[in-house]
Amino acid sequence: MLAGHKPASHKHRSRALLAALLLASGLAFADAPAPLAQRLADIQDLGRFTPLRALPILSQMERESRAAPLAEKAAFLDLACKIHDSLGHYELANKLCDELILLGQQHADNTILARGMLDKGYVMFHLNELAQSHQLIWQAEKLAVGSRDMDLRVRSTISSGQSYGEDGNFPMALSKLQAAATLARQSGQPMLMTIAFNSLAYLYNQMREHDKGFEALKEAYRAAESIDSPGRMATLKNTEYALSIDSGQVQRGLKALLAAVELERRIGAGPMVATSLVNLSDCYLKLKDYRNALSYAEQALAQARLINNDSSMATARMNIGQALLAMGRLAEGKKNIEAGMAWYEQQGDKPTLQDALAEYGEALERAGDLPGALKAYHRERALSNELFEQRRQKAMLELQEKYESDKRQRQIELLRQENQVKSTEIDNRRLQQRVWWLLALVFALSAVIVYFLYRKVRQANARLEEKNLELKQQSARDPLTALYNRRHFQEFMRGHQEIAQTGATEETVSAIYLMDVDHFKHINDTYGHGAGDAVLREIADALREILRETDMIVRWGGEEFLAFLPAVPRSSLDDVARRLLSGIPARSIDYQGVKLSVNVSIGFAPFPLAPGGKPISWERAVNLVDMALYLAKGHGRNRAYGVQGFARDTGMSIEQIEQDIEGAWRAGSIELSVVQGNWTPPQLQAVSA
Ligand code: GH3
Ligand code: MG
Ligand code: MG
Repeated sequence: MLAGHKPASHKHRSRALLAALLLASGLAFADAPAPLAQRLADIQDLGRFTPLRALPILSQMERESRAAPLAEKAAFLDLACKIHDSLGHYELANKLCDELILLGQQHADNTILARGMLDKGYVMFHLNELAQSHQLIWQAEKLAVGSRDMDLRVRSTISSGQSYGEDGNFPMALSKLQAAATLARQSGQPMLMTIAFNSLAYLYNQMREHDKGFEALKEAYRAAESIDSPGRMATLKNTEYALSIDSGQVQRGLKALLAAVELERRIGAGPMVATSLVNLSDCYLKLKDYRNALSYAEQALAQARLINNDSSMATARMNIGQALLAMGRLAEGKKNIEAGMAWYEQQGDKPTLQDALAEYGEALERAGDLPGALKAYHRERALSNELFEQRRQKAMLELQEKYESDKRQRQIELLRQENQVKSTEIDNRRLQQRVWWLLALVFALSAVIVYFLYRKVRQANARLEEKNLELKQQSARDPLTALYNRRHFQEFMRGHQEIAQTGATEETVSAIYLMDVDHFKHINDTYGHGAGDAVLREIADALREILRETDMIVRWGGEEFLAFLPAVPRSSLDDVARRLLSGIPARSIDYQGVKLSVNVSIGFAPFPLAPGGKPISWERAVNLVDMALYLAKGHGRNRAYGVQGFARDTGMSIEQIEQDIEGAWRAGSIELSVVQGNWTPPQLQAVSA
């Protein structure tokens, strides 16, 4: 995994190497002094640099660790994940870090969670899932900020900086790694300082700031002095090699690399040895020392074969081929290079294959195999075109994806606006509805008010009509006796006269009776006006009783009453007079212990009257009756004088008769009947006496 898959000439730039370095050291759960915790801590370095040797020891501790308390269990999972990751057991490593993450979540322990995520980030890096790797590492860094675990904080900050470096964001990467170095210094742990400054040195190299790189490296060396870790020291030597080669100090680089191999061999760090040997052969190729290049490449191949590292094997074979070509051993060289390239082809690592083909072509050209060089060149071109096409398609896809997402965004925005419009519409409709309801309410209220007003007006009208009727009645009636008044009678007769005249027969006629109270003045004078009024009311009652309902009774004047009988047998006119004469005095009123009653005098006549065959008006008829009454008064009162008829050819006109009815009676021009009142009330007798 130490970037052995890359061509030798690029080896020292591989970030994979750096990540591998970081994976190297393990945990430092300082507050776990239990024997298991100690034993786990002890194999950290072993696991980092010689994972194959660490693996059996780890396996022995598995059961105990899984049954151990949280801290030890987490430490075990963390270490196991790193070791399997180093050995390329990515599936298993992934499972282990997922287990660690779950453990952190279950116990709400952010330190454990961050460890798990950091480990998963490394696994993802090795599986070439860079974006996912970076996200995991940055999340882990955030979680680690609050942790008291300095080791975790420094390592997560370093990994975060490296992730920024991989993204090409060097300013951010530098700031993170500087922060990590400061933190490491604060922690006072030489191991952390070594790792932090080593990372910083490596970044400076990437940034072509070699002087600063060497300075940082010096710090790393100084810190490493106090820790006994050959593996760590070998790592620093590798960094020195990279810095030296890139700053053009090939000899210094070679020296550092040789020292690294020495250290790696001493601890048996197989993968590191293989990589360093490949780098050595690279170095000698650069120096055009093909014999040494071939020798180290062959050693690298053997070492890689030993540890089953295909990637290192492929790179080693490429370098062997390069050396052989340079030495003129064309066929052998071609065979090795083709074998190396076949592995990349098989892996689908086309960019590396393209680089290799370019180098291959140049090497063939130098070796004088022009057709071979041309062939390699054509293959390189074809691959280049293919890669270009792939990149173009990828760019297209990305562009399309971006366009799609923009489009989606726009659609979402459109939908949002549409929704807003709809909700506004709904609000408006609600408002409209409210207005309509309000209007309806106003109309309903108005209708109710109008209805009540209308009812009131109708009631008022009804009352008015009632009042009018009452008023009319009042105007037709005499207030004291409630009998019809004279005006009403006149109105009545205006409409009735003709009917009475035409409706009359020989037997049945209408009749007019005019009555005047005898000596009424005396009642007033003796008992007062109130007594007089009471007597008048009593007379009215008597008249209503004596006469029929169809007869019209009228208060004609002060103490004069008129009765108009519309239909009465001619023969019973005198009887009516008799009834009146006796009926009225029969009634009396009780006034202060005195019984008061009165007599009346009456004049009467049938209607119509036709002296000389000529019918006279009702006024004239009443006048004639009044004369008859006058006659009754003159002849002693308490009696009735009625007109019976007129004699023919007497030579007296009706006017003459009116003026002197007594004379006319004597002359026989008018026929009169006399009805004598036969009952004399005691009061009256007293008065007349
Ligand atoms: P006679 O007719 O028998 O000749 O005598 P008299 O006393 O009835 O005659 P006169 O016509 O002189 O008197 C009528 C009196 O009736 C005069 C007046 O004071 C009285 N009188 C008229 N109208 C009313 C009334 O409404 N109430 C009362 N208490 N008296 C009235
Ligand atoms: Mg009178
Ligand atoms: Mg009188």
